Amino acid sequence: MPKTLRLILGDQLNSNHSWFSEINPEITYLMVEMRQETDYVQHHIQKIIAFFLAMRHFGEKIKKNGHQLIYYKLDNPENEQELEKILVTLIQEQGFEKLEYQLPDEYRLDKQLGLLSESLGIPVKAFDTEHFLTDRGFLKEFFRGKKNFLMESFYREMRKKFHILMDGKDPIGGRWNFDQENRSAFKDKHLLPKAKTYPKKAHEIYEMIQKAGVKTIGTLDPDSFPWPISRKESLELLDYFCKNLLVHFGDFQDAMSTWDPYLFHSRLSFSLNTKLITPLEVVEKVEQYWIANQNQISLSQVEGFIRQIIGWREYMRGIYWAKMPEFAELNFFGHKRKLPVWYWTGNTKMKCLSHSIGQSLEMAYAHHIQRLMVTGNFALLAGIAPDEVDKWYLGIYIDAIEWVEITNTRGMSQFADGGIVGTKPYVSSANYIKKMSNYCSHCAYKPTEKTGNGACPFNSLYWHFYERNREKLEKNPRIGMVYKTWDKMKNKPEILDQAEFYIKNLDTL
Ligand SMILES: Cc1cc2nc3c(=O)[nH]c(=O)nc-3n(C[C@H](O)[C@H](O)[C@H](O)COP(=O)(O)OP(=O)(O)OC[C@H]3O[C@@H](n4cnc5c(N)ncnc54)[C@H](O)[C@@H]3O)c2cc1C
Ligand code: SF4
Repeated sequence: MPKTLRLILGDQLNSNHSWFSEINPEITYLMVEMRQETDYVQHHIQKIIAFFLAMRHFGEKIKKNGHQLIYYKLDNPENEQELEKILVTLIQEQGFEKLEYQLPDEYRLDKQLGLLSESLGIPVKAFDTEHFLTDRGFLKEFFRGKKNFLMESFYREMRKKFHILMDGKDPIGGRWNFDQENRSAFKDKHLLPKAKTYPKKAHEIYEMIQKAGVKTIGTLDPDSFPWPISRKESLELLDYFCKNLLVHFGDFQDAMSTWDPYLFHSRLSFSLNTKLITPLEVVEKVEQYWIANQNQISLSQVEGFIRQIIGWREYMRGIYWAKMPEFAELNFFGHKRKLPVWYWTGNTKMKCLSHSIGQSLEMAYAHHIQRLMVTGNFALLAGIAPDEVDKWYLGIYIDAIEWVEITNTRGMSQFADGGIVGTKPYVSSANYIKKMSNYCSHCAYKPTEKTGNGACPFNSLYWHFYERNREKLEKNPRIGMVYKTWDKMKNKPEILDQAEFYIKNLDTL
């Protein structure tokens, strides 16, 4: 076998990959903490630390198992900080005759490695990551010839293909989807479980990042880094989820509360996205746990969770590969505004936003509905440029990797794709936030008012959004009713004036 260099990227920490099934002295693995990766967007400090901690742990593990490894820390003098330079130097100095890599999940890296393959002057081979349920092109093929890429059809196909929650050819319980039952507000503090964290010290990496001058956002207590960074910890978190959170996952999936940032959400996204665990093992474990505990856990909780993983997560990946690179340029509404300054501080009088943003800065985490119906909803109503919104989401969350960030942000949340991911924009007035959270009762604004001093900005901005985008949205069959209601409203000019005022003063809200 030629002397081979195998590249492992920071989100390819799959210790069960077939690469590792045998030890070969001709193969050397390469892992690098690069400025190329810390600087392509401004990341949350916890996100960079989580990646580096997980990479270092993974590197140690494969080394312990007998594999040869070159690992460059960010401050290693030999680290040239850019993938191309590092590979060229290693090939020249150490005589590698072949490069192998696993297919990256990001278009940016895929393109970079594709170009490198042509210029390195040695044979290059790409491998599958052996993580996802489907390959990159599956979704495109599945929807070939179809106008709409409906997630629900894709999800049902996944259920059948992998025989998850199935009774022969039919869905267990006679229904595919229990979404209608996943919409309760959270009112009982006593149900709250204690969040499971993995407090560990992160001083070395924290100081290294500061010294290197990497620009980050958010905060961290380096004495108590809270995220799972190994396969063992990720499996423990999955176990904790099954035993403590699954029982109410579906019920409170859409709820938001100042009492607790996580509620019944799993916090498994970092472990999944770095491939410490696979989607199939997660859903199989959850399904098995439910089968053994059916008397305590209802099907709607389990189906709600499994849909997120084999439905939404896998679907978003398929959309990404079907629609990139054009997807990253889409701006259906032509929105151009800058993000209000308080997206970077949490310093706004709007409680829903100050809480969701404050929590994101503090924890690098917000759950789906905070991302979709608070921060995303406001950005869309206020006409913020999708590039600005993407940059924020890509930086701030622990789990943010472009394939799953941009499809959720530009697609699902900002409808900048004009309806590839969603059939209509996810926008709401204060009504939805009031129903699903306790935010409004702690807010300086009045959720029931559309105009006047102290009226909730979501209310007038909601109608302003529909009015200004009438031409683009009126014919959408799912939206027609909204325009009927709007056209009957008597104080339309006042509402639009109120919204204009808020738009002109976004930074002061
Ligand atoms: C605007 C916006 C941006 C987002 N950006 C990201 C991102 O960068 N990375 C990311 O992993 N998720 C993203 N999501 C999806 C979702 O919000 C997160 O996956 C979830 O909040 C992670 O927390 P959790 O692990 O506790 O999730 P849980 O609620 O416990 O859900 C379980 C798992 O399901 C998967 N999942 C749930 N919803 C989605 C979804 N819409 N798309 C893909 N997977 C999903 C995740 O892997 C998650 O870990 C985004 C959603 C929105 C609306
Ligand atoms: S009143 Fe409006 S701004 Fe305040 S928390 Fe409710 S929805 Fe948010």
